[in-house]
Amino acid sequence: MGELAWEKRQFGHRARLALTPAQARLMDDQAHAARTMWNCLHDWWTMLPKDKRSLAAADAAIRQARKEIDWLAVLPAQAAQAVLKSYVQAWRNCWDRRADEPNFKARLRAVMSVDIPQGRDLQIKRVHRRWGMVNIPKVGRVRFRWTRDLPVGKLANRENRITGARLVKDGLGWHIAFRVQTLELKPEPHTGPEIGIDAGVSLPLALSDGNHQDHGRPARLPDGTADRDKWLNPQEKAKLLRLEQRAAHRKSFRKPKERSSNRLNRTYDQIKQLRAKATRRVVDWQHQTTTHLARTYGTVVVEQLNITNMVKSAKGTIEEPGTNVAQKSGLNRSISQEAWGRTVTMLTYKTGRYGGTLVKVPAPNTSLRCSACGFLTPGSREGQATFVCKNPDCGWCGNADWNAARNILHLYRIGLVAIPAAGRAVVRRTRGAKPATAR
Ligand SMILES: [Zn+2]
Repeated sequence: MGELAWEKRQFGHRARLALTPAQARLMDDQAHAARTMWNCLHDWWTMLPKDKRSLAAADAAIRQARKEIDWLAVLPAQAAQAVLKSYVQAWRNCWDRRADEPNFKARLRAVMSVDIPQGRDLQIKRVHRRWGMVNIPKVGRVRFRWTRDLPVGKLANRENRITGARLVKDGLGWHIAFRVQTLELKPEPHTGPEIGIDAGVSLPLALSDGNHQDHGRPARLPDGTADRDKWLNPQEKAKLLRLEQRAAHRKSFRKPKERSSNRLNRTYDQIKQLRAKATRRVVDWQHQTTTHLARTYGTVVVEQLNITNMVKSAKGTIEEPGTNVAQKSGLNRSISQEAWGRTVTMLTYKTGRYGGTLVKVPAPNTSLRCSACGFLTPGSREGQATFVCKNPDCGWCGNADWNAARNILHLYRIGLVAIPAAGRAVVRRTRGAKPATAR
């Protein structure tokens, strides 16, 4: 055993809020005010000559708007400051090429959220084995489900505390996401085996050792398209279909530019509720799976995928429209459905917590290459569950997802590792550089 080392850890903890209908309305008002604030800010910022744009000027503009438009005052001053901060950050992300330019937030599409940037405003207290109380500015004391121990009260100190929170609304209502900071013993290095993982077509997560992680739901419909609603049971699916038909029917009576009726909005809310239920189930499964993987393996290797780029490249540009857009966007949808990005995020922090490492490899052609001999068979293999090697001397065949997972692990073993630098992946060969085709 070496010396004990401590490390700072930051994580989020999400809990559902038990709001009364009146409190929920107050929250909705705050969220709409935050969105309007963003839109005012964006309008003002883009009209201003470039040399006049500054944080101080934006701050003054926000103060002025809060004085002039009285319903913006429902948003606590700290939350308004948080809007400004995230707006400026959005531009920084754009200048560093991590994201597109910030844009206006639409009433129906934007996620409803309000920030509480200061932890001390929350005044969290545990009141029951299963319930905690939190203070929400301009709303009051609200109960939330207590599902894990948080550093509050006597447990809180400089190193272990809650630094803030964000309130987010989904189809099931308002949630609070606490930002937690703790100081913990650094874990011993994980000595477990190396593993390559691929988000597969027929297997949700294929492992290079021939195992896989399954959720018992088909990834695809019989016609080969991705099943968007596989996390709902047959009754829920039938209900969803009924609701979607009802929404389409009600929408057909709406005249152009007319606001959607309350009945139509109610149907939309019910659809959102079902979708939120499905999302909650996926996240739950992902948490269980990634914890298991982080506990079992010392090094986890995944493919470096840039989902936003994939969606963009499929669409193409106006001058050069993409080919097979529908097909590719179907693939993208199924990737988004499996929420591969979320799985990787979870794996990143969980492997760290157990002393392991997550490695990303640049992975062109992992599904086209034979993992037994390295022979590359060009052409699309999308949707095919079995890989057959076209090399006359090899002829290996097996599960296509396992094949890709083994290729991913192989890329790591020959030292091909992706290092993210300023938004673009740079490939570096670390250990003895052999070409990827050599086995
Ligand atoms: Zn082969």
